[in-house]
Amino acid sequence: MNNREIIDRLYKNTTVEPEEFRQLLGDMDADTQEYLSEKARKVSRRIFGNRIYLRGLIEFTNYCKNDCFYCGIRRSNQQVERYHLSKEEILSCCKTGYDLGFRTFVLQGGEDLSFSDEILCDLIYHIKKQFPECAITLSIGEKSKESYQRYFEAGADRYLLRHETANEEHYRKLHPKEMSLVNRKHCLFHLKEIGYQVGCGIMVGSPYQTKETILEDLLFMKELKPHMIGIGPFITQKNTIFAEFQNGSVEFTLRLLSILRLMFPQVLLPATTALGTLDPMGREKGILAGANVLMPNLSPIKVREKYTLYDNKICTGEEAAECNQCLQERIKKIGYTIVKVRGDYGEIYK
Ligand code: SAH
Repeated sequence: MNNREIIDRLYKNTTVEPEEFRQLLGDMDADTQEYLSEKARKVSRRIFGNRIYLRGLIEFTNYCKNDCFYCGIRRSNQQVERYHLSKEEILSCCKTGYDLGFRTFVLQGGEDLSFSDEILCDLIYHIKKQFPECAITLSIGEKSKESYQRYFEAGADRYLLRHETANEEHYRKLHPKEMSLVNRKHCLFHLKEIGYQVGCGIMVGSPYQTKETILEDLLFMKELKPHMIGIGPFITQKNTIFAEFQNGSVEFTLRLLSILRLMFPQVLLPATTALGTLDPMGREKGILAGANVLMPNLSPIKVREKYTLYDNKICTGEEAAECNQCLQERIKKIGYTIVKVRGDYGEIYK
């Protein structure tokens, strides 16, 4: 079976045999990759038209109890100046975002123990009270099912928790002993059971990743059936133990975005900041490969440089309004338009 035939069947049936996925992850010439991208674009156009959803990212703390080997805000990085935002600061980020047309706020941070469930619920409750028509997405790592339930009841709608890799051995090479893939997966299933719109995902080109581990990722995603999938290239960070590794590939990230769009036509798929960091046109290319979401930064400028998951992160110097203007223009140039809606999973556009 040649690659084009496999792509045609994936387009038609949203799945192919594992052996065929494996083939799509292998060598692929530029023409075929473009063919794949066109098919994915066709699907995202069918579902979303030329509409791009925005999520305002608020990086509210860079304290973290974990020590993930790839991440710049890992506990043992002593070079990073730690911060967390106050409730007032977070609400003020939301207000700025709201005025710019954002209808989803993503609260992302390290696993910061100073934010108890009570504090988090109070925060979620107040954001929701002030911005009732907005969705709240949390991205704050692994918690107990009870905690997830409490945040949900306080008003959280969605949760992003990248599984990072669906292969046990690979997971152990990226994380310290006290973390486990089993727990990470449990968290994702708990979140689904509670009723969140759930996002999983991986870093493309993370150390020790292989085509086989990616195949496992695709199969795991088929099992989880996520509403959102966050993927971006792995990028080295100078204060981590992976500082000397290679960055992930933009081309391969784009290929995976297209494969995911064909597998999950309705999934909410961001063109990530990491993609825009490795290629100045990365986010535009991501959209043209099938992505339909952008997640601009709403964090106050004074903390942006401190939320250094990886090196050379873009958009750390501009105010939210400037970033927004720049994105609007970029997106318009490729024939898409940013819309001021929540952009829930399965939302029908009339
Ligand atoms: N503490 C939260 C949020 C983590 S940051 C959690 O555990 O989910 C969000 C994502 O950034 C991570 O899931 C990871 O996939 C990505 N990330 C971290 N370090 C990175 C790096 N060096 N390069 C690219 N992406 C990275």
